[in-house]
Amino acid sequence: MNLIVTTTDSIEGAKITQYIDVLRCSMVVGTDLALTDLLSGANNKYRYQLNKIYDKGMRDLRQKGTSVGADAIVGLHTDFEEIFGKGKTKFVVSMVGTAVKLDCPRKAVPVDKYDSVPFTEVRRRQLFITLNNKLADDKYALNEDDWNDIINYSLFDLAPQIYRRYLLLAKETISSTPLAGKKLLLENFIPFMNSLDFEDAAEVVYSDFVTEPYATSEIVKACNLFHPGKIVDMLKHDNKHIVISLLGADKPTYDNTDLQQMRKIEEFLDNLPDTGHYEEGRGSLFSKTGTLLVCERGHTSAVELGGHCTETLERGLGICNLNVKGITEAEVNEIKLFKQKIAVLVSLLKSDKPE
Ligand SMILES: [Zn+2]
Repeated sequence: MNLIVTTTDSIEGAKITQYIDVLRCSMVVGTDLALTDLLSGANNKYRYQLNKIYDKGMRDLRQKGTSVGADAIVGLHTDFEEIFGKGKTKFVVSMVGTAVKLDCPRKAVPVDKYDSVPFTEVRRRQLFITLNNKLADDKYALNEDDWNDIINYSLFDLAPQIYRRYLLLAKETISSTPLAGKKLLLENFIPFMNSLDFEDAAEVVYSDFVTEPYATSEIVKACNLFHPGKIVDMLKHDNKHIVISLLGADKPTYDNTDLQQMRKIEEFLDNLPDTGHYEEGRGSLFSKTGTLLVCERGHTSAVELGGHCTETLERGLGICNLNVKGITEAEVNEIKLFKQKIAVLVSLLKSDKPE
């Protein structure tokens, strides 16, 4: 739910019924540039950073607002302050706003409204509309100028469309995308996703695990988008291979909520149903225990209990390698490492429950 944030003291069409609290957030940023250089926007890289910081501050405030039950934040004020020390310039970005309750939050304006709008915001909106229209055409390939705009103007709201484009590219066997456009997409996509907020990026990436599951799990790994909660939601569907393919991915930080969800994933993996079965072999000719594994593909091989199918697959696809649960040795190893990660987290995290 997107909280309304505005620099004005009131909100059109809604009445403020309660002032909850003054919310603040501040961030310290170190650079080798002076603040004036940054604000003049002379340097694209820093303007991009500044936009990112601003976005992060807005998200922090929105989160704080939501956690105190606010419908909106009014009177938003942003301050940039330069501080010097140890020969380096740092600056502090502070944002202050008042969390309020509204009488008719649903009827309130759906987008942020300003007293006055910086031209960069106007340009940003225009670029968003233009690029959004271009991306609606599957044949359109983003060019270098488009990517510069996306990055310089932090057009993060294009993420769902860009992600979709990435999946289509991963899926297609005969490409209709020109080579240059394809190269640009591949080069820019991961840095773009990395610049998004964790929750926002996860929302986009986990929205489609169907089109090209393994391209998606590569993104999850490359962008540290391991999201235990979203993976738990995936457990309802029969997709253990995809779930296992995500276990090696990380997220920026782990807390007790993550740990709880990770334990649910562990429990799911511990209780995978058998997809194959064992049969009694004809004595020691087949194996020490005389056991035969019949894997889900119907191969029969002589293995120890818990072993993996040794049958060779057709068309040079290697060894079948499935065990009685239908998973490969590499997957068993991923699960082992995942359990180890859980144990390490248990040792590092303070317990939620009082002793
Ligand atoms: Zn097999």
